Order: sequence, then C-alpha cells, then structure tokens
Amino acid sequence: MEIISGETLQIFFLGTSGALPTISRNLPCILLKWGSHDLIFDCGEGSQRQMMKARAGFSPEAIYISHWHADHFLGIVGLLQTMSFGGREQALTIVGPDCVHEIVTDITRLCRTKLSFTVESVKANSGDVLIYEGYSIRVFDANHGIPGVGYIFEENMRAGRFNREKAIELGIRPGPLFGKLQRGSEVVITVDGKDKIITPGMVMGPLRPGRKIIYTGDTRPVLSELTEIGQDADLLIHDATFDRQEEERAKEFMHATAAEAGIVAQTLKAHRLALFHFSTRYTSTDSHIADAKAHFSGEIIAPEDLDIIDIPFRND
Ligand SMILES: [Zn+2]
Ligand SMILES: [Zn+2]
Repeated sequence: MEIISGETLQIFFLGTSGALPTISRNLPCILLKWGSHDLIFDCGEGSQRQMMKARAGFSPEAIYISHWHADHFLGIVGLLQTMSFGGREQALTIVGPDCVHEIVTDITRLCRTKLSFTVESVKANSGDVLIYEGYSIRVFDANHGIPGVGYIFEENMRAGRFNREKAIELGIRPGPLFGKLQRGSEVVITVDGKDKIITPGMVMGPLRPGRKIIYTGDTRPVLSELTEIGQDADLLIHDATFDRQEEERAKEFMHATAAEAGIVAQTLKAHRLALFHFSTRYTSTDSHIADAKAHFSGEIIAPEDLDIIDIPFRND
C-alpha cells in the first residue's frame, strides 16, 4: 500500500439543515478537503453559494450522494452550470446509490447546454471500496426507507515514527537523508570507506493508520453495518434530525435522534461526533448535544453552516 504523508484534512459544513432549509441553515452539503482534493458529500439546493461564502473553491473531483431525496442533490444542476461557465475541463464523477445513471443523465439534460466537461456516474453498492491515490471511499447501506448509502473516507496508512537517534547511531547526519528515509527511500552512506545501505525499515516505526471520516447521510442507526468497518473514526457525521423527545417521529420518518447518534459514536469508539441534518422545529441544538452527551464521552459538535473543522493527525 502506498504511504501518504502530511496532507491537511478539513471538513466544511456547507449546509446543515434537514429536509427544509431555514434562514440560517442551508440544505445538506459537506465538503471534504484533503490536500488539494475536494470531495463533496450531498449537494442540496444552493450549495454553490455556500461554497462561495466559505471560499471553498469550485473544483470538486467527485460528488457523493447518499440518496435521491431532493434536499440532497438539487444543488448539482446549478453547480455544474457554474463550473461549465468557469471553463472546467476535468471530468466530474457523481457517485450515488440505485438510479444514479438515470439521475445523472437527467441532471445533465436539465442543464440545457453542452457542459465544458464530462460527467461520469458511478453506482455505489454497499461493500464497495473505491480506491484513489492516497485514500479510499467505502460504501455502506443506510436505512432510510429508500435506497441510500453512507460513505467512509479513509486515508491510506501513513509512515511510522522516525527514530532520529537510531539514524544518527547508524551514521546518518541530520539533513536531507532523513527526509529521504521518511519518504520511504533507502539511502547509501559511506562508513570507514565502505558503502552502507540504510533502509527505511531500520529507522522507521510501524505504519500508522490514516484518518477516517464517516458520513451516514439520512438514516436510522445502522450499527450492524458499521461494526466491522466504522471503528475508531476521527469524525462521525451522523443523522441527528430529532432530539430524544421526537424518537417516535425519528422512527416514522427513518431518521436518527441525537441520542442514537451518540450510541453509535460510543459503540464505534469515534473520536468526535458531528450531529447533522437538523429539523426546522429546533432553533437551538442544545437538546441534541445534551442527548448525545448522555451516551458518548468524546467530543460532540452541532455544526452551523460554514463551520470548518480540521482533522489533525493523531498522536499515536
Ligand atoms: Zn435529508
Ligand atoms: Zn432523506
């Protein structure tokens, strides 16, 4: 497996409302920025203006749609047109469940103009792992009453710790050769007139896991889907449409409560939980936070639109 190093990872919460927008919350849209790679997860109506407000740029490589409820994808049409006006040439991939090919064809037809780039559709099936350079996207089934999926962004393993003392002991002087070893190349040094090969394995610790972000989309809790693949995420972004008071409604409309999101986060040992997709009935997310806190001991956030968070490397 190729090893990555040092990419920044940021999550832009561009739209955080449930099915209906409010004055302060736009429809669901999350932008994941990994180094220079931009990935969009769901793209509700008006997402392109949220991208402008967040100064997020307009160069997504791919758009991942969780399901085909209108609040999650109507923003694609306008975004495609804007990127075409901007002269985009790079092909765009739209990934989604079930009718993705038909819907992407419909969307590009709706634009009524020849786009400056091609749009490819990819069907997301539960269990799929889409492999890219440096990261992968894993697909799992959601439980929302219509075909729907969630996605797990997972960085490749990263290099182990560099043992500086060991390197010096072996005769390497601090400087460019350190960097070469850290990037996975062997180096040759001369000791007592003889060439000596130092391999990365001699000075680097074991590989460390990359960062992991889970986005559930709209769903009831799906712990059984996530038990194997969802452990130990740096961030779990979970449907929390309702608070505990509205548990029956959450079941009826196939959403989750914040308490249920907390249980999922705790069971999967997530490091941070972002509650997401708030119903318009709430003007505050205090009850959501309190409900999740009753079950989850890690950090809990209830992002507002345009909040940006960094996902740092872990200290392990
Ligand atoms: Zn929704
Ligand atoms: Zn939905």
